[in-house]
Amino acid sequence: MLATLMYGPGDVRCEAVDDPRILKPTDAIIKLSATCICGSDLWPYRGLQPTDGPAHMGHEYCGVVVEVGSEVKTVRPGQFVVGSFCISDNTCPHCRFGFHSSCVQREFMSGAQAPYARVPLADGTLVATAELPSADLIPHLLATSDVLGTGWYAADAANVRAGATVVVVGDGAVGLMGVLAAREMGAGRIIAMSRHATRQKLAAEFGATDIVAERGDEGIARIKDLTGGVGADSVLECVGTQQSMTQAIACSRPGGSIGYVGVPHGVTFEGEAMFFAQRRMLGGPAPVRRFLPDLIDRVLAGRIKPGKVFDLKLPLSEVAEGYRAMDERRAIKTLITV
Ligand SMILES: [Zn+2]
Repeated sequence: MLATLMYGPGDVRCEAVDDPRILKPTDAIIKLSATCICGSDLWPYRGLQPTDGPAHMGHEYCGVVVEVGSEVKTVRPGQFVVGSFCISDNTCPHCRFGFHSSCVQREFMSGAQAPYARVPLADGTLVATAELPSADLIPHLLATSDVLGTGWYAADAANVRAGATVVVVGDGAVGLMGVLAAREMGAGRIIAMSRHATRQKLAAEFGATDIVAERGDEGIARIKDLTGGVGADSVLECVGTQQSMTQAIACSRPGGSIGYVGVPHGVTFEGEAMFFAQRRMLGGPAPVRRFLPDLIDRVLAGRIKPGKVFDLKLPLSEVAEGYRAMDERRAIKTLITV
């Protein structure tokens, strides 16, 4: 089959590779209904994260099971499934505590930017739907696999409550999903920080009540203005740079919570400043598996349409252009048909 390989920074190719096969009795093979490029794929693409040789790209996926290993019990061929980018057993103490992304058997999914993929720990990782979904639902279901699940975790970790004032730092796909999540959780006010007209528009569509285009000190001052000098109850940090983290902490009120899901690159904290700031912080790779059944239900019920975040659709043969478009911020998120 053809699949997506990253040879190094800026060098993504669609090339022939061996078809995936069952390697362990707990594996499943799925035929993808669609796949996509993640904002986190841009870190190695931009040379900001080391890569060693051609890497099989892709960790967001949904599709139909075609084969399962001998020990797989809960999913079977023919079922439509969605799984998280984190592989988990769903049975260990961390999974049972809701932190599937720290599963004792954790692996990170790879190789999903392809027509077929191997999913380890299929029983714990995959969630099957009762019926095969219609084609128009595929982008929305695909979004639950990572981008929505991560935005949802940001809101959950930031302790978003009914009526809360929420600030979302970052207008990438995850930030936009954070806006949607905060709205679903009943936030009273959702302030999206974005400088880009198309992303501002989408943020408003997903539920943002205010847009702040300024960033850094000016952005912090605007948030203080909008919140009567208090700061936000909940802040979602969806970027992962020092500037965005500093902004997120400063936009929060004392006792407020910050959910941070942008993978930190060069971010440091100063203990004494954190001590006196009095902020709650929870971050990390999202335990998407915890949220998947609920998110899938919301999509199937037509309640949310997270797939609107895909503003570029390309065939697998043009995957390299999908990376370029996201790198140059011409696209928010690229859906790849396989
Ligand atoms: Zn586990």
